[in-house]
Amino acid sequence: MINKIIAEEKIQQVRKFLEKKEKIVITCHVSPDGDAIGASLGLYHFLDGLGKEVNVVVPDLLPRNLLFLKGTKEIVVYTRYPEFAEKLMSEAELIFCLDFNAISRIDRLQKSVSLSEAKKVLIDHHLNPEDFCDVTISHPEVASTSELIFRLICRMGMFDRMGLYSAEAIYTGMMTDTGNFTYNSNIPEMYYIIAELVKLGINKDKIYALVYNTNSVDKIKLNGYAVSEKMEVFPEYKAAMISLTREELKRYDYHKGDSEGLVNVPLGIEGIRFSTFFREDKEYIKVSMRSKGFFPVNKVAAEHFNGGGHLNAAGGEFHGTMEEAQALLRSILPLYDKYMVKDKD
Ligand code: 5GP
Ligand code: MN
Repeated sequence: MINKIIAEEKIQQVRKFLEKKEKIVITCHVSPDGDAIGASLGLYHFLDGLGKEVNVVVPDLLPRNLLFLKGTKEIVVYTRYPEFAEKLMSEAELIFCLDFNAISRIDRLQKSVSLSEAKKVLIDHHLNPEDFCDVTISHPEVASTSELIFRLICRMGMFDRMGLYSAEAIYTGMMTDTGNFTYNSNIPEMYYIIAELVKLGINKDKIYALVYNTNSVDKIKLNGYAVSEKMEVFPEYKAAMISLTREELKRYDYHKGDSEGLVNVPLGIEGIRFSTFFREDKEYIKVSMRSKGFFPVNKVAAEHFNGGGHLNAAGGEFHGTMEEAQALLRSILPLYDKYMVKDKD
């Protein structure tokens, strides 16, 4: 059996809500990733199996490589159907907020979730959750929200109601939030859970291939271009930066998700421990940061790029030109050099 991580009292509260509430909405953060969607659909199929009237409502479009998951067609995307999304929120009796710690992370859905009179349950693994839900299940020590969904279902004593579709979604979230089990992954119980999911019938090799080996030619070319032409390496600060302008994205017919993972590439260079990726969006420059060891990218993102996140994976926004964003990063590198000292591995 796996250890009890989620407090018993919270399990009981969720169970009580589920006994009484029929109209349920599940939501997750803007630019949903494998874990946000995995956790949402993992819970969705489980609740659907219990006979609940359940909908997943997300702020904006899903990346294409997640569309293989069962249930993605039923997801209500706010940018496509704003009125329907708001109607579902206002009529909901129970809302699950998954994989985010601050209400601002659901972007345009903020208002309708805040105004909704539904009971709200937060299930998340980001640091410092805001207090906006009736029940807050927050476990930053757990690698993915999807794993928390697995744990919640088990602890409610309903593992036998977790079907294959839930299992596939949960596995996808566990896999993507650990880089296919290459970071945050030295936890024995994670492999117990995977064993249970495999027993439920998931094909983990196939899921890997569907998520990671379904790229378009343009996406591969964009990534190649970014690395060969747009990567700046700062060996003295063990850092690197990649940036892509709107014009460059357009040149390679950019679709949402096409630059996913690019920020990790510089960390594959020996000695590089801090990587930043700037992508010029319509309204601002999206900032993504990753690090190895003790280098706190969440601190850098919070202090200079209106963002936050985890120690090794963070993000934010920059309001200005690409040149200004690059100049800011270059200028702050010396300030954070002290955090590199701790790292010996
Ligand atoms: P990504 O680089 O994949 O967009 O984001 C990595 C992590 O950084 C996310 O899981 C999230 O915790 C955090 N993050 C990304 N963008 C933002 C942002 O704009 N604000 C905050 N507070 N955190 C962000
Ligand atoms: Mn996550």
